[in-house]
Amino acid sequence: MTAHANENGRFTLTAEAVRNQFHEGNRINTVPNHTAFNNPGESANPTQPMYNQNLLSLLYCIADDKAVKDGFSHRGIVCNSCGMNPICGIRYKCANCSDYDVCERCESKDNHNKMHVFLKIKIPIPSLINPRNALLSPLYPGSHKVKHSLLREDIALYKKSTHFDLSEINGLYEQFSVLTDNVKGISREVFNLCLGPLGRKANLVMSRLFKFFDRNGNGYIDFNEFVHGLSILIKGNLDEKLKYVFTGYDLDGSGYISKENLRRMFKAYFGVTIDLVRDVVKGCEDSMPYDIDDMHGKPVSSFFNSPIPVNTGPSVSSKEKVLKLPDNQSSFYGKRESMWPVMEAMSQDAIDEMVENVFRHGDLNRDGRLSFDEFKICTLTDPTLVSWFEALGTIF
Ligand SMILES: [Zn+2]
Ligand SMILES: [Zn+2]
Repeated sequence: MTAHANENGRFTLTAEAVRNQFHEGNRINTVPNHTAFNNPGESANPTQPMYNQNLLSLLYCIADDKAVKDGFSHRGIVCNSCGMNPICGIRYKCANCSDYDVCERCESKDNHNKMHVFLKIKIPIPSLINPRNALLSPLYPGSHKVKHSLLREDIALYKKSTHFDLSEINGLYEQFSVLTDNVKGISREVFNLCLGPLGRKANLVMSRLFKFFDRNGNGYIDFNEFVHGLSILIKGNLDEKLKYVFTGYDLDGSGYISKENLRRMFKAYFGVTIDLVRDVVKGCEDSMPYDIDDMHGKPVSSFFNSPIPVNTGPSVSSKEKVLKLPDNQSSFYGKRESMWPVMEAMSQDAIDEMVENVFRHGDLNRDGRLSFDEFKICTLTDPTLVSWFEALGTIF
């Protein structure tokens, strides 16, 4: 290691020494005290020494990290792209192919199928337990390759009309290309696939969200619609969103929101919420070990559909207020699957109440419908009116 003590007895390490270490492939083990890198008298600018110190520490870290990574040898695994045998450093295994691996350098060139996902493997897997089958079925529902790249003038237009910068637009185009299953764009079927468990049954909220993206209403989301929709969902402010939230409620396209419009959307949104909770609960049950003492082997959902126990249960003390249902109701709740329809039935009254509330405060001219301006005022006091639009994130 090319390092020496200066007249003050402090360590100095030159950039050249670091370069030499890289060339020799040696691992640098000693990181000198950061505060002793420079003699403060050497520089007129007090921030310069700190900058140099940070840069040198960064170089040390990179050299250290690279040396460790290069030490990993994935014996028996050959790079399918450059033929490196065995792969040294990080191994990337395609999760969608039964046997396809690349080294770090080839992975960065990204010449494999864009729709395949890679596992990053640092510590070599013992060869006999290496997976020999594809680990995942394809996650992207679109076409095999990007058909063409974006035109320069198109990018310039998107930069002006959306909140995205150049690299984001290019990134979104790549994403769009692996989701597109049709020359016209993303179909409703693919949109439903992207919704995961929520896409399996029809729901008004999802239809309105698709319509929000599909501005020309041809049944496909083309790139222009994709990038503009995401710009609003990801980076739009409330004012930008309100226009689309209002349009979403205006189911008959009259330019006004009726009580029936509101009722149908609230009901649909309630359905989405129930489905989301159901999915989360199911996920918890699937991953929950059965021997947790507090659970007594019961599914998580059992804690939602039974009254909170009075004297037992880990988190409820006798001093705390306890919700207890009448006996006839608690027996009804005892059956796990019966919980959801009951909640849905209970929601009807609540939804009617909410609709009346919105109109009581928002329908200023009492014409039985909400104009955009009236709706906008409503959202100031009741921000949950925007919830259905934002609840599912950006979908893509
Ligand atoms: Zn390679
Ligand atoms: Zn593959």
